[in-house]
Amino acid sequence: MQPVYTSYMRATRAVIRLGNLHHNIKTLHQHMEAQLGGKAPQMCIAVKADAYGHGIVRCAEIAIGAGANLLGVATVSEGAALREAGIREPILLFSIARKAELEELAELTLSPFVADEAYVRLLDEAAASAGVKLNVHLKVDTGMGRIGCRPEDAPQLASQIQHTKRLRLAGTATHFPVADEDNSQFTREQIDLFLRTVKQIRDAGIDPGLVHAANSGAIIGYPDVWADMVRPGIAVYGYYPSADQQRKLDLRPVMELLSEIVFVKRVAPNTPISYGCTYRTPQETVIATIPAGYGDGFNRLLSSIGRVQIDGKTYPIVGRVCMDQFMVDIGADPQCGVGSTVTLFGPDPAGPNAEELAELCSTIPYDILTSVTARVPRIYLE
Ligand SMILES: *Cc1c(COP(=O)(O)O)cnc(C)c1O
Repeated sequence: MQPVYTSYMRATRAVIRLGNLHHNIKTLHQHMEAQLGGKAPQMCIAVKADAYGHGIVRCAEIAIGAGANLLGVATVSEGAALREAGIREPILLFSIARKAELEELAELTLSPFVADEAYVRLLDEAAASAGVKLNVHLKVDTGMGRIGCRPEDAPQLASQIQHTKRLRLAGTATHFPVADEDNSQFTREQIDLFLRTVKQIRDAGIDPGLVHAANSGAIIGYPDVWADMVRPGIAVYGYYPSADQQRKLDLRPVMELLSEIVFVKRVAPNTPISYGCTYRTPQETVIATIPAGYGDGFNRLLSSIGRVQIDGKTYPIVGRVCMDQFMVDIGADPQCGVGSTVTLFGPDPAGPNAEELAELCSTIPYDILTSVTARVPRIYLE
């Protein structure tokens, strides 16, 4: 869904390599198959936040084509976008909806996470008024401190769900805060607690449904909790969840943020560049203006520290990144000029990628990707 003010003629654009998305999903699948020596678990691919900024509908379609069994969203409206596009696969809602959203949730037949009795009752009522049955997934908090019931309350809640008229316990799940570190003791203890909780539900004579926990970090580092289903997000978009994990998979960045030089000017030594005059040219050089800025999601923290790639070579960003433009020093004898394509980040190992930008901005690749704003057109490459 592009807003009306997105221009497809604009220099700044996000090229979405759907081939890489497909490749990454297959790579995760093969990694699990190889390690298990048999059938890989089901996959719920996270397409929340507009598929991490890549475009929810196109990415969901590729995910399904690559074998996704479920799709994961964070809001009812994201679920609505998928249903409007004709997607019929089960959609797992990762967050708790407000009471005012439950009617729509039921009509869209989303499968929500549930974590307390009151919400279970409200959902059962919403399902009844919509005349549908809903699959729900019991979310157990084993250490994330976010939504999820206490492990000791899980069997009772599972039993409550079982006794509703309109809800079916289709899954039991948890989530990891530090699975992006290999060999974390905290994660090991969470896995034990989660698997013990699932066993208690079974011991109470209740089918827990699909047992699932693994985000990208746990798919890469914790095979003992792949269980019935995994929930990858960042890895399918081509990035590791953190710098602390072994790089054992061939993940390829899906998004390439591109722009173009629109203006060049030769300047004298000591010329101030951009707001605040925080940068002055050390010698005579040529300064190129790129029509992209923090209004496009290109972080202002990259001012004077980031780099871009033009015709295979990299050049420094000089001065502050503005809302809609920034400047690059292309040298006194430039080989590029107006019309040259500029890569802000992308899959080329020699150029900047979202991980490098994240490091420079003290954040994570997730933040860099989801920050690309709606005015940047997404151009899909099959
Ligand atoms: C976002 C999310 C995921 C995917 O996490 P990644 O780190 O991107 O793999 C999985 N499960 C839940 C509940 C999430 O919110």
